[in-house]
Amino acid sequence: MDTADVDANDYDYDVLVVGSANADLTVRVDRRPDAGETVLGTDLVESAGGKGANQAAAAARLGGRVALLARIGGDAYGELLLNAQRAAGTDVRHVIADPEARTGTAMIIVGTDGDNSIVVSPGANAALTPKDVAAAREVIAGAAVLSLQLEIPMESVEAAAAAAREAGTRVVLNPSPAPEGLAPELLAAADPLVVNEHEARRISGAADGGPAEWARALRDLGARSVVITLGGDGAYVLDADGDAAVPGVKVTAVDTTGAGDAFTGALATRLARGETLATAARYAVRVGAAAVTKPGAQPSYPTPDELPAG
Ligand code: ADP
Repeated sequence: MDTADVDANDYDYDVLVVGSANADLTVRVDRRPDAGETVLGTDLVESAGGKGANQAAAAARLGGRVALLARIGGDAYGELLLNAQRAAGTDVRHVIADPEARTGTAMIIVGTDGDNSIVVSPGANAALTPKDVAAAREVIAGAAVLSLQLEIPMESVEAAAAAAREAGTRVVLNPSPAPEGLAPELLAAADPLVVNEHEARRISGAADGGPAEWARALRDLGARSVVITLGGDGAYVLDADGDAAVPGVKVTAVDTTGAGDAFTGALATRLARGETLATAARYAVRVGAAAVTKPGAQPSYPTPDELPAG
């Protein structure tokens, strides 16, 4: 047994995700509708999604010890989400089911290029409050890594980051959907901040330049370390060890929904086991690549034996 394994066993969980859970309602189209236009799509597919739930499922399918703190409604979509987490191996005892609420939903249109357009109705996710987070302080303290995104109220994300900081739990922050601005305390908690190109440009305020400039700008804003995902081109990493470009893995992309979440969940599990950011990112790029070869978010997530070579 190596040192990393011994360290991992000091924690209740490798990864705790505090975040959203959504039912993904997906239709594929030949062409996206313009404003005022109607187009016909394929049959509707209902599957488990939501950035928080996705990251938990990705991490758990890869063998991590994972828990999810999220809110769902008392409807059939809530059941769908719970079952998907259980199947992935996530500990769901911290998922709160509110019979009065609607489970969050994401309406997803996938084009022929595999790219997607998404509208999210937050539903129960909007009711995940700082009070819920405060009640989970011990759980946060018992995790090696806390994984956060921005599909729940910002004050709850900030409360979770503050609790992690107090407990010495490492925070992986994926600021998505891209916000107008991020509180300095939240940015300072991010180790790493995980962003795609769009989020990198928007949050760094550096419209020009490339990954190296965006990453430096994000670190200058306060992030302790930065990972920028670059779709088929892989990822770019910047931390105290320096920077590294992680090449993409060539695959045939059929649906990129949830690829960034697969990447982030994978990254979190590897960081929890003591890997360096660059090594964890190399693994996460393979996981992201596997996720785009199948339709859907969680249904596309690989087990370790389903990963392409790096
Ligand atoms: P997001 O899904 O948040 O927009 P990206 O598009 O950057 O994020 O994708 C996240 C990760 O998924 C990438 O770093 C890469 O590992 C993988 N990925 C995404 N698109 C492709 C692709 N076309 N080919 C191979 N890997 C991909």
